[in-house]
Order: sequence, then C-alpha cells, then structure tokens
Amino acid sequence: MTKFVVTPANVAQRDAWAGGAIPEVERVRPGLWSVPVPIPVNPLRYVLVYVLELPGGVAIVDAGWNTDEAYDALVAGLAVAGYAITDVKGVLVTHIHPDHYGLAGRVREMSGAWIALHPADARLVRDRYDDAAIDSLVERERELLRRCGVPALTLDELAGASMMIRHVVTMAKPDRLVEDGDELGLPGWDLRAVWTPGHSPGHLCFVSPARRVLFSGDHVLAKITPIVAVHPQSGPNPLADYLDSLAAVRKLDVEEVLPAHEYRFLELAERVDNVMAHHDERLAEIERVVGSLDGAACWDLATRLTWSRPWETIPPFMRRAANNETLAHLAWLEARGRVRRVAGDPDLWFPV
Ligand SMILES: [Zn+2]
Ligand SMILES: [Zn+2]
Repeated sequence: MTKFVVTPANVAQRDAWAGGAIPEVERVRPGLWSVPVPIPVNPLRYVLVYVLELPGGVAIVDAGWNTDEAYDALVAGLAVAGYAITDVKGVLVTHIHPDHYGLAGRVREMSGAWIALHPADARLVRDRYDDAAIDSLVERERELLRRCGVPALTLDELAGASMMIRHVVTMAKPDRLVEDGDELGLPGWDLRAVWTPGHSPGHLCFVSPARRVLFSGDHVLAKITPIVAVHPQSGPNPLADYLDSLAAVRKLDVEEVLPAHEYRFLELAERVDNVMAHHDERLAEIERVVGSLDGAACWDLATRLTWSRPWETIPPFMRRAANNETLAHLAWLEARGRVRRVAGDPDLWFPV
C-alpha cells in the first residue's frame, strides 16, 4: 500500500502525540478550543474534547472517561479557554464508547447541559451500561465468540473482557436525539450532523461548512484506523456501513479534520482513500487465507492474519477485537459472494 502521511494541522500537537506526551490545551481558531482529556491505561492516552464558544457559554464535542482525573483535566482545560464547567450548555457525543460518552452524565449533573446522541447509539445505552442488563450482553458476546470457534478455555475470559472499563461511564440517557443531516442550532455555528455508522452504529461526525472543519470523532483519524467489528450490538455488516460512511465524509468540502484522538490534520479525502485502501488489502488477505484452508472458523483465521504484533502477545481484550474485526471482514466478503459461511458449531468459512 502506498504510504500516505497526513499533514498535521499543528506540528506541536503531532509531536506531543508522537512523543508519548499529552498535548497542550489550544485555541484551534477563534471560538474553538481543543482540550486533551487523559484516558488512563490505554494506548490512545487522551481524547480530544472540542470546546465551541457560544454566546454565554460553550458546547463541547465528546466528554472523556468518567474518572476524577479526566473530569479535572476537562475543568482545567475549560478554564484556559475562560470558562467554567457550569458554562457548558450542551454535550455533543460522537458515539457511545466510554472515552467519548463516559463523562457526559457528570458534566450534565454539574452544568445542566443537554446531551446529544444518535438514536442508534442511544438504543444501546441500557444494554451496555446498566448493571441489570449487562449479563445478557455478556451472554450474547459469549455465543458470538463460540460460533467463531474461540476455544472453550478462553471463552469466559474473552466474553467479559470489557467489563472492567464499565466503571468509567455514567449511564446517562441523552436529552436530544440527533439524526443524519440535522442542524444543531448552536448560535454562531452552522454545525450539521453526519451519521457515520461503522465504528459504532450511531457514530456521528459534525461538519461546519462555514469554518470548513469536520469533527470526526473516531471515524477518521490521522494514523490509526478505528475498530470496525461484528459484536452483539453491531449490525450484520458493519464494515459495509463503515465504508459507506467514509464515502459520505469524503465528499465534504473541509480544510481541517478535528478527530477525537492523536492530532488534527489536513487532507480529509486523501486520508479516506488511504483507509479504504487499508480495508481493501485486509479483505484481500482474509480472502487469501480462507482460500488456503478450505473450511476454517473465524478465530482460526484471525490467528493466521498479520497483526501489529505476534498473536501470542496480544492481550485477551485485543484478541476479541481482532476476532470480531476479522468477522466483520468475513461478513463483508460473504455479502459480496467472495466467501461462503457454513453455519454450525462453529461456523466455518469456505472459498467460493
Ligand atoms: Zn470509539
Ligand atoms: Zn475513541
């Protein structure tokens, strides 16, 4: 694949990311601030919360994890911009993942702000974060992994692999449901929602045509590609959704991309092409491996793919993601008639 490297919009921010540091709170342009909010024990290190100035307050895009450290960093960042937590009028959440949505409830509690989310993610809140519902979600994950051929011994460990991060979320029902194309109606901002399902079913980006910026959440990032996986709360073919969502943002006429992780950058269209090429390569690799085995379970296929490190050294949580991501690619290939699934225990994948 041709290596494409985006141009960072601010070299200091890129250097901070590359150097393992937390970047500065900065004024991106008049009326718009970027506040890095730390994520503990996670290679992403921080989520970039954007602060949009309004008459008499601010709106924020994403919130961070629900930890004291994250909350304090958000409060401190707002202070640099000249605001208090009580000035927050609204929280635009790009998607339901804990690093974006986790702190939203606490911000609302302190400020009375509204929380906005896409309905497809709002529907998942209870199952994902309510103690009464969580067992059934773990059970569905277990069944999915079993059908993938995950060995019995690792099944329990993998099925509950994300339970440890649940405490970093306040279960907060959204006050506003935002659909594709909705204008947010923030005074001084021509902000419009773009529904970009794939990484999560209700992922939203927000575009300002006048300022020519895209708040891209986890949908498009400078270097990493977001996880797109089949899981109990995904649709049947999330990779198709994701690739369609990439095509949708590629058309936008923006100058700068403001993502939730790493650093902000230019060249949206080129980066989108690059991410699409990455998935094309991945699809080709998986099709090749399926072709070489003549009937293999998803888990066995996943162990044979190229990952950023040797399979044996990948921790359980990441192995589950790798398996579910492999399944997303298989489902995409199946929908295109490029591989065949024979349902069973486990499901087996065959070349056509
Ligand atoms: Zn995410
Ligand atoms: Zn994220």
